[in-house]
Amino acid sequence: MSEPSPIPPAPRLRDVRSQTLEELQAEFQNWQEPAYRASQVVEWLYVHRATDWTAMSNLPLRLRERLRHNFALDPITLVAHQGSPDHTQKFLWRLADGALIESVLIPANPALCGEESDRRTLCVSTQVGCAYGCAFCASGLQGWKRNLGVEEIVDQVLAAERWHAANPAPADAASPRERLVDNLVIMGMGEPLANYDPLLKALRILNAPWGGRIGARRITVSTSGLCPQIRRLAEEPLQLQLAVSLHGATDPVRSRLMPVNRKYPIRELMAACEFYVARKGRLLTFEYLLIAGVNDDLAHVPPLADLARRVHAKVNLIPYNHVPTLPWQRPDDNTQQAFLEALQARGINATLRREKGHDIDAACGQLRLRAEAGNA
Ligand code: SF4
Repeated sequence: MSEPSPIPPAPRLRDVRSQTLEELQAEFQNWQEPAYRASQVVEWLYVHRATDWTAMSNLPLRLRERLRHNFALDPITLVAHQGSPDHTQKFLWRLADGALIESVLIPANPALCGEESDRRTLCVSTQVGCAYGCAFCASGLQGWKRNLGVEEIVDQVLAAERWHAANPAPADAASPRERLVDNLVIMGMGEPLANYDPLLKALRILNAPWGGRIGARRITVSTSGLCPQIRRLAEEPLQLQLAVSLHGATDPVRSRLMPVNRKYPIRELMAACEFYVARKGRLLTFEYLLIAGVNDDLAHVPPLADLARRVHAKVNLIPYNHVPTLPWQRPDDNTQQAFLEALQARGINATLRREKGHDIDAACGQLRLRAEAGNA
């Protein structure tokens, strides 16, 4: 007698936070529920940041049960948290399948200890690991595992806000914020544009007036330089900011640091950037890690300035955060400053990023690496 065939696993339910209000309304219409019920659900999700159906007390019990049977609502859970004296907060989250990802909450204008900053930026991840293998990066060290779903991107914002609501700074208790996160940078673990459709849907939800209510102009998407996706992003109605991780102003230097440059060399990357700027009429940013002895010599300034001038890019210089097991080092302060001034002397809008979280493994992927090694 042959063995009975194994029972296939039950299909995973869609998570309710991967749905737009319009999609929920369409589902409710099929269920012959009034449309305002869908608005109540999104209010529970995005205003009250509910993490289970039982909290949704103004929905009839039978509707909550129907929702439970048709949608997942699996919040990400906090595994580790590190705070820095400059108020940078780093979070390590566990996803429903056990995978680990990171987000970093960064005060844009760090006030003195105990005072509130007037803007808060959350840096979110889009993939578990990364396939792009940039030579300086902790996130790529263990390769790519999977893309994040829409709800896993959205919930990084909600979970950081839930954490903050449970751990308010003294100033926040006096003036509670309706929305903690008012800027997003999509620069955490992973290459954002390699997870294009879930990312764009998550950003539409986080931007929507019924959802996250974060202005599109306050959302910056970063890329290592995926040219077809940059062109696709240029055609999106959302007015997103684009940050290109350049890190090298010539092909030999950039290919040494970023294997993606062999597929999309600087000439192609610049054509895609020009297309983006022409379509969007917006400034873009070049991110440029300063790495000692690799790209920090003043000889790198003229080609970098030429590229920035072509697309009117702002250049954001970021002193490298050392990653244990990798050979790269941060240049000293004088070298950083000289590089900045040489760029500015050529008329380039350049900044040297203020230190954020240098003492808490703020370079992307480090907290996860330590946790997976059992040291978080
Ligand atoms: S820098 Fe970004 S694209 Fe490069 S390996 Fe790290 S996460 Fe991936």
